[in-house]
Amino acid sequence: MILRSFVGGQWMEPQGEGQPLYDAVTGAELARASSDGIDVPAALAHARSQGGPALRSLTFHERASLLKALAQFLRGHRPELYDLSHHAGATVADARMDVDGGIGVLLSYASRAVRDLPDDTVLVEGDVEPLGRAGHFVGQHLLASRPGVAIQINAFNFPVWGPLEKLAPALLAGLPTIIKPATATAFITVKLMELLLEANVLPDGALQLVCGRGSGLWEHLGEQDAVAFTGSAATARQLAAALAAHSPGARFQAETDSLNCSILGPDATPGTPEFDLYVAQLVAEMTAKAGQKCTAIRRALVPSHQVEAVVEAVRARLAEVVVGDPADPATTMGPLVSQAQREEVRRQVAALRAAGSLVVGDPDHAAVAGADGERGAFLSPLLLTADADRPEPHTIEAFGPVSTVMGYRGAAHAIEVAARGRGSLAASVVTADAPFARTVVRGLAPWHGRLLVLDREAATESTGHGSPLPMLVHGGPGRAGGGEELGGMRSVLRHLQRTALQASPQLLAAVVGTSADPPAP
Ligand code: NAP
Repeated sequence: MILRSFVGGQWMEPQGEGQPLYDAVTGAELARASSDGIDVPAALAHARSQGGPALRSLTFHERASLLKALAQFLRGHRPELYDLSHHAGATVADARMDVDGGIGVLLSYASRAVRDLPDDTVLVEGDVEPLGRAGHFVGQHLLASRPGVAIQINAFNFPVWGPLEKLAPALLAGLPTIIKPATATAFITVKLMELLLEANVLPDGALQLVCGRGSGLWEHLGEQDAVAFTGSAATARQLAAALAAHSPGARFQAETDSLNCSILGPDATPGTPEFDLYVAQLVAEMTAKAGQKCTAIRRALVPSHQVEAVVEAVRARLAEVVVGDPADPATTMGPLVSQAQREEVRRQVAALRAAGSLVVGDPDHAAVAGADGERGAFLSPLLLTADADRPEPHTIEAFGPVSTVMGYRGAAHAIEVAARGRGSLAASVVTADAPFARTVVRGLAPWHGRLLVLDREAATESTGHGSPLPMLVHGGPGRAGGGEELGGMRSVLRHLQRTALQASPQLLAAVVGTSADPPAP
């Protein structure tokens, strides 16, 4: 089967054989993907001529109601997406993170938009600023939709959440979207697209899908267009260079890879709730989606004298992990997305071992329940220890169930070591010691997009180290890409153009008012 793209209002088959996609559990070929022969310029033209004008004619509240309708429709079809997700290695819990998480983003954006945006097609920001002494000349900021296209290039690990979290703010901002899914899990995004179309609420041209490499998508883009990328830092650099060469005016935002850390406070000794929270969270981050999460904890920083205690506690918990068929409810960790990904993780683990020791797990063997450990891309959870002053743990991302425990010597050393990741999406500090939390958070903040301070109180409601939330910013500086996604209406505003409007009070009121008629003098 070759995956179809949805462009110009219809499903189209590409030409040629395409690139194969494999079942993560059995290794069997699932489908093929290609964008050869897909008329990408026509897709861009369709978005500009049909989708954009239709979306921009709606008010923010009307656009919000589209998101809500999409979410409600998807809700009724979650099992179909869960079932497909098993073939990419996702357990039910992993699939819920992706599918329910994505639906949650749509609903969050829909309700926030009604609360925070006007029932209008433009947004007025801030107060009227007096610009003249006699009050005849004033200013105010106006935010308007751009007549462009939002192109999204997604990573393989969130085939549902990834497209939806980019779609929600773009659609609210009046931008038509073209999705390019990562090939390894594109079969799930194709199903998502089918469902979004079946919901039958979006205007023609508001949403299109291009499977395969998507060549041509980032050429001939203009100043009003935006490309939002999620994936590795290396690919982000290539794309940024291609955009600069072919579409220098287009806006580019990247969410890339990240060597997130979790810091154990000196007060969190064995026997305290914070120590247990630290260990439980580390194991959860290693095993959820088999560690294929951009926010997973790659670097576990603990007081030097606690390295052994942490390793032993993690070892005991990892012994309870059931690696196996992701469709089996007893399984707690499925395979990686593909054999190729497993080989890549093995290579990165070999490189990490130069800095220390592998203390739990075997990269070449996993005890697998209910599936063939060799045909499927199974890998056992792998825990390493390393000297924090070696470069490898701060530069190598093993995108799988892999984490490295390192000892730190005091708060200043922990901050310095954390910063060696050169910018991360998320960090957590597990402590009940307020002065330690204050010092470490202030030191980490310039290097991190999100910081979780976890103690026994927050733990009763905490959403965890690895969960980006729609109302808070997701992104990180430096290596993490420097982009910002989510963050409630902030990401809608980023898609709009801000204009500083200057006029007489009467004409300013006429321009920004919701009625086309100027208000009575
Ligand atoms: P990737 O290999 O960089 O691919 C990401 C996307 O870019 C895919 O759609 C891929 O398409 C496309 N792509 C790759 N090379 C390209 C090229 N030369 N020209 C145009 N497009 C190209 O990343 P991945 O393996 O899918 O995802 C894993 C990585 O993503 C990890 O490093 C992880 O940390 C990061 N990630 C970051 C976030 C975040 O929010 N910061 C979230 C999730 C994942 P094909 O699949 O067709 O090659």
